Amino acid sequence: MKLVFLGPPGAGKGTQAEKVCERYRIPHISTGDILRHEMKISSELGVEAKGYIDKGLLVPDDLIIEMTKKRIAQEDCAAGYLLDGFPRTVSQAEALEAVSPTDYAINIDVPTSKIIKRICGRRVCKACGAVYHISSYTADTCEKCGGELYLRDDDKPETVETRLKVYEEQTKPLLGYYDKADCLYTIDSDRPVEEVFQSICTLLDGKTE
Ligand code: ADP
Ligand code: AMP
Repeated sequence: MKLVFLGPPGAGKGTQAEKVCERYRIPHISTGDILRHEMKISSELGVEAKGYIDKGLLVPDDLIIEMTKKRIAQEDCAAGYLLDGFPRTVSQAEALEAVSPTDYAINIDVPTSKIIKRICGRRVCKACGAVYHISSYTADTCEKCGGELYLRDDDKPETVETRLKVYEEQTKPLLGYYDKADCLYTIDSDRPVEEVFQSICTLLDGKTE
C-alpha cells in the first residue's frame, strides 16, 4: 500500500498519518520531520534546508527528491509506506511516480479559514515529535514521553502566510496531477480527528477488500 497525503499545511496530515500507519503497519515518512531532525543535528542538509524552512519556502526539489528516494528504498518500505508532506511540487511527483507509483493520493481537505487556527495552536514535542493543539491539550509537556512542547518557528503567523501562498502556487496543482492519474481521493478534515480517521479507513478497507 503506497499512500501519499496531500493537503495544505495544518490540514491534519501528520495527525492522521500516525493513526493510519499504526493500523496498516506501514512506515510514516514525513519529509518535514526528517528535515527537522537534520536541522537538529546540524547536518549539511539540515543547515541548507533551514534557510528555506525558516522563510516558509520549499526546500529545493533536487535535495528533497534524493532524500526521499533514499528513504523509500529502505527495506521497511518494501510492502508500502505513507508519504506525508511529499510530493509538494509536480517535479517531485514525477520523480516519485517514475520509481514507485502511488496507489492512493489522499487529499486531506480543510477550509483555508480554519488553517491558521490549526497551525498557530499546534505544539510539537521537542523529544518525540508528537503533535498537539492548545484547544484540546493544555499541559506543557508531552503525555507520551514528558518532553517539552514548543511552537515551530515556521508556525508563527508571519511565516504561515508565505507557506499558504507556496501551497496554493506549488503544491495545489498536484491535485490535478493525481486526479489525472486516477488515484486522487479527497477526505473532509473539517471534522473531529476520529471521524476523519474512520473515513480514511473506510476508503482504504473498501479498496483492499
Ligand atoms: P499537518 O501535518 O497537515 O501540517 P497536523 O496533523 O500537524 O497538520 O495538524 C495541525 C494542527 O491541527 C495540530 O495542532 C493538530 O493537533 C490539529 N488537528 C489535526 N487534525 C485535526 C482535526 N480533525 N480537528 C481539529 N484539529 C486538528
Ligand atoms: P511540514 O512539516 O510538512 O509542514 O514541512 C515543514 C517545511 O519543510 C516546509 O514548509 C518546507 O520548507 C520543508 N519541506 C517539507 N517537505 C518538503 C518537500 N516535499 N519539498 C520541499 N520542502 C519540504
